[in-house]
Amino acid sequence: MKRVYTADSVAMAWHIKNVLEFHDIDATVRNEGLLSLAGEVPFVECQPEVWVLNDLSYLLAEKLIKEIEGGPVVEGEDWNCRNCHESNLASYAICWNCQSSIDEDEESS
Ligand SMILES: [Zn+2]
Repeated sequence: MKRVYTADSVAMAWHIKNVLEFHDIDATVRNEGLLSLAGEVPFVECQPEVWVLNDLSYLLAEKLIKEIEGGPVVEGEDWNCRNCHESNLASYAICWNCQSSIDEDEESS
């Protein structure tokens, strides 16, 4: 296991993890649970981290993350998931937490 990324937010950590897994790299997010303790512990200790399970994937993961970070920044408002009410970055089309679509229509009566 190797830490490949330290994120500013849980949403970003999950975004990285999802991209890595899309490229067949097994990854895991650590520290996300500590966010609820923010204020009690120094900020740096509650930043979520992305770890790759297989060290051999580390270099590829690092390269992918550089591409993600160097990618175009999508302007816009953060949005809250209708399904699980998590906050998502404007650049996401689906919820990082439950994979619901941003414009999912729940008006099924
Ligand atoms: Zn959701």
